[in-house]
Amino acid sequence: MKRLILASNNKKKIKEMNEILKELNIEVESLENENINIDVVEDGKTFEENAKKKAKEIYEFLLKRGDENFIVLADDSGLTVDYLKGEPGIYSARYAGEHGNDKKNNEKLLKNLSGVHKENRGAKFICQLALFTDRGGYFKVTGDVKGHIVEELHGEGGFGYDPLFFYEPLNKTFAQLTSEEKNEISHRGVALKELKKIIRELL
Ligand code: IMP
Repeated sequence: MKRLILASNNKKKIKEMNEILKELNIEVESLENENINIDVVEDGKTFEENAKKKAKEIYEFLLKRGDENFIVLADDSGLTVDYLKGEPGIYSARYAGEHGNDKKNNEKLLKNLSGVHKENRGAKFICQLALFTDRGGYFKVTGDVKGHIVEELHGEGGFGYDPLFFYEPLNKTFAQLTSEEKNEISHRGVALKELKKIIRELL
């Protein structure tokens, strides 16, 4: 059995991934849990470049450290808003300047969409996954989900832009969904369910 390491310390992402992968009976480990103190610079121009870079740097570090029997997974994800020409996109985590400040990011998004009509508030969450095996094998998968940005925060669940992302088929924001509901239809759920088939073979 190999270790599955996510190139991240984002607890919310790891929680979602553990829920989506639960039938594999494997725990997704954070960088912290693996004593890896590396902050990969996300300077790619696309989600795909960033996901690949995060997975590859951690893979190379582990090889140098002499680790064996591992799989490194990276998730680069974000929100693209039509009216904002795809923003915040790859800058979703640091849209308002400070990495991972969800409150400020949501405030900035609402400000940039103030006065914009519902029909022009279309948005998409994108999740790009990259996976490196300890033998250098590389796999990539993308998932996305469409919705629109509402005018006020609704719901307490999830993270990031979830309270502003309205999913029409369930008539709720992502933050109003249960974690099972979100994982069933989210960009991360879609991508990870596809990759799960590969992970199962690799373990
Ligand atoms: P990353 O860690 O560089 O991939 O940045 C991801 C950022 O995109 C997060 O900080 C959130 O702002 C946003 N994001 C990604 N996935 C989700 C999600 O499932 N819900 C809400 N926001 C998300």
